[in-house]
Amino acid sequence: MELKGMHIVVFGLGRTGESLVRFLLDRGARVSVTDSRPARMVGQPAGRIARLPVSMQLGGHDEKIVESADWIVLSPGVPHTLGVLERAERAGIPVIGEIELASHFVDEPIVAITGTNGKSTVTRLAGRMLEYSGMSIFLGGNLGRPLIDYVSEAKPVEVVVIEVSSFQLDTIVHFRPAVGVLLNISPDHLDRYPDFGAYAASKARLFENQLASDTAVVNAGDEIVMRAAENAKSRMCTFNDADFRPCSALISDTEIRINSPNTDPFVISASRVPLAGRHNLENTAAAALAALAAGASREGILASLDGFVPDPHRLERVATIKDVAYYDDSKATNVDAVVRAIESMSGPVILIAGGRDKFGGYEALRKPVERHVKAVIVMGEAADAILGTLCDVVELRHADTMAEAVEEASRIAAPGDAVLLSPACSSFDMYENYEARGDDFARAVRSLDAMAV
Ligand code: ADP
Repeated sequence: MELKGMHIVVFGLGRTGESLVRFLLDRGARVSVTDSRPARMVGQPAGRIARLPVSMQLGGHDEKIVESADWIVLSPGVPHTLGVLERAERAGIPVIGEIELASHFVDEPIVAITGTNGKSTVTRLAGRMLEYSGMSIFLGGNLGRPLIDYVSEAKPVEVVVIEVSSFQLDTIVHFRPAVGVLLNISPDHLDRYPDFGAYAASKARLFENQLASDTAVVNAGDEIVMRAAENAKSRMCTFNDADFRPCSALISDTEIRINSPNTDPFVISASRVPLAGRHNLENTAAAALAALAAGASREGILASLDGFVPDPHRLERVATIKDVAYYDDSKATNVDAVVRAIESMSGPVILIAGGRDKFGGYEALRKPVERHVKAVIVMGEAADAILGTLCDVVELRHADTMAEAVEEASRIAAPGDAVLLSPACSSFDMYENYEARGDDFARAVRSLDAMAV
């Protein structure tokens, strides 16, 4: 892809947008950048980019800026359905995402991981498995450093491991991972897609450019995933399967049995997986199959599990007070993640849920809540919707703040119970992001603890 002399318009001036601008300038392109946020909200990148020979338009996207564009490149957070982008595409200007652009300059094999839930966990696990197998890697994408940083740094590694979101897949054209992992598909982001079918179709795009020499790692226990992978030309490796296949991982309560053409069959004992819940056995199986396809060894995979520390806010135990465990699962922003969290708890649960509704419905919570949950404390914009769906199966309370929710939960909890913040919603009604929500929960729990002393 020749960029010299081309006029490229970058949409979005966050971390990825700034990296894109610098990369494009470096390659001799004429660069414009635009962001819907005003300069004071864009913050430091705006000041830094203002010093470069770049035309910048903040606080909205004027049609004029795209008129003379040869290409438009989107940062991951920018919806490709913006009117100005649709009009540009109709006028024949290609609109691509950062992953698409960057991947044109990556010669090394790419392991790309997507799915509704577990992307970050599997990306980190697969990266660590490869590293412990002695391979050099770049880890990033939708997590940590954008792929364009890898290209800019020009420090080649053996394998590039990236997390990819459905929004990023919406803007690919030729992107072709050597190993594509599709973990699961359940309702999410229905505030940004017309319907569930459109969301699932976007995930399926992971495989659309793969060839027979590539690998698709898929969840055999998820019908929608299997349908999404139906037309893939690549070699299929399955986890959650009922039968052993040439490349598969069988999961029981006690172990994962791995069968891969790249190694002798071997077993990962569940006790060796440092993450709670059946879903994390699935995540480990998927990561192992992907890492093996990219060159990892069995010894490396096993060794990598010792001492693996998951990212915060994912079923993170923040304290145990009076024999009640408090878990921060603030990253659970959809219903399936909450179901998995509830099922991972050994005793009765007091659930704190709610936030900004993503319009996926809450019906799937009814069964697990009825079976394992003593009370649900609802908060945020979605409180009424959750209340309406669960009111005949469980005791419900309403809280205005996290501190109130935690105090109420602690009053209901008996020794042996768990208090679980697993919201099933995004955080943006009350917080800047899910991390801030999880931190607020942990703070409220700590102040309970202080009162208990
Ligand atoms: P993502 O990057 O896809 O959001 P994370 O690994 O950050 O995934 O986990 C997000 C949430 O989903 C957490 O609440 C976590 O406990 C839950 N989760 C992780 N793996 C799975 C899975 N395989 N199925 C369902 N939920 C999962």
